Amino acid sequence: MENTTTEKVNCLIIGSGPAGYTAAIYTARADMKPVMYQGLQPGGQLTITTEVENFPGYPDGAQGPQMMEDFKKQAERFGTDIRWGMVTSVDFSSYPHKVVVDEKHHIEANAVIIATGASAKWLGLPSEKKLNGFGVSACAVCDGFFFKGQDVAIVGAGDTAAEEASYLAKLCRKVYMLVRRDEMRASKAMQHRVQNTANIEILYNHSTVEILGEQGVTGVKVFNTKTNQERILDITGFFVAIGHEPNSKEFKPYLNMDENGYILTVPGSTRTNVEGVFACGDVQDHIYRQAVTAAGSGCMAALDAERFLAAKGLH
Ligand code: NDP
Repeated sequence: MENTTTEKVNCLIIGSGPAGYTAAIYTARADMKPVMYQGLQPGGQLTITTEVENFPGYPDGAQGPQMMEDFKKQAERFGTDIRWGMVTSVDFSSYPHKVVVDEKHHIEANAVIIATGASAKWLGLPSEKKLNGFGVSACAVCDGFFFKGQDVAIVGAGDTAAEEASYLAKLCRKVYMLVRRDEMRASKAMQHRVQNTANIEILYNHSTVEILGEQGVTGVKVFNTKTNQERILDITGFFVAIGHEPNSKEFKPYLNMDENGYILTVPGSTRTNVEGVFACGDVQDHIYRQAVTAAGSGCMAALDAERFLAAKGLH
């Protein structure tokens, strides 16, 4: 028979990026006995970036993975119970809130802080799926190394694509940047950087038709929407950098969200439409999406949760 033991948790934090760890630091210091489940990508998106130069307090910059190790250590120092595991379902229809981890561990939580962040988007081509991990990647910093001295393409025109194209240009012989419109969305500074890099060729008005190859990438078929012409670029690596989507689907039956799945919070707070459930970081922010703003909202979630528990006489 299935084990139906239920663990009682005072403050449950779901996700381990800057928002989750900041919520952990604050709730642990407030003696709220936080339990954190790290999720699929412990440390979150900063673990797949290199240099972070805009987080205040690091005058010389810091490596993303190291920064997240520091966040973790600080959360542990005050007693956060940090665990491996993914939240696979929730039931917010009655109190206390029910959360299931890895489809088997049942938790009843007095307060829940959702800090599950966002994940990379894909083009949706069958060849992209087939060759994922075999030359197709959504993280230049993770996988660029494998394409040292080779020719690659990157699709996207935002700051991420520009940053990753610059990163790849240092490793690869040639980087094609596939931009679907006649201009880029990236900041002017980033645009100038890629435009002034000799081995980056920006192909405006280009869409991806199919990634070619069986066991690995051998090329990409692209379509010029201005000239209506198709051509094949000889490449061995194909990188996707077209934005992110919030990791919120487990909460969809209970929480109000916008049309893209970002959790809606009461302005000026981290409160969701369910009492005792708070959301912070990129899962509720499609505008700023910075480590420092995520950390700030993690602090807000901790303070909101503390007030909620105090009002309930649970803290
Ligand atoms: P964005 O949403 O800003 O950009 C996504 C890009 O992908 C857009 O140029 C979009 O094109 C393109 N795109 C989307 N779908 C497709 C598709 N199907 N085919 C081809 N192209 C597609 O995402 P980013 O990840 O770049 O950035 C997210 C946020 O993070 C931004 O606010 C950004 O400024 C910030 N950021 C800041 C950095 C920094 O300051 N160092 C570094 C990285 C990100 P289109 O323009 O035509 O819509």
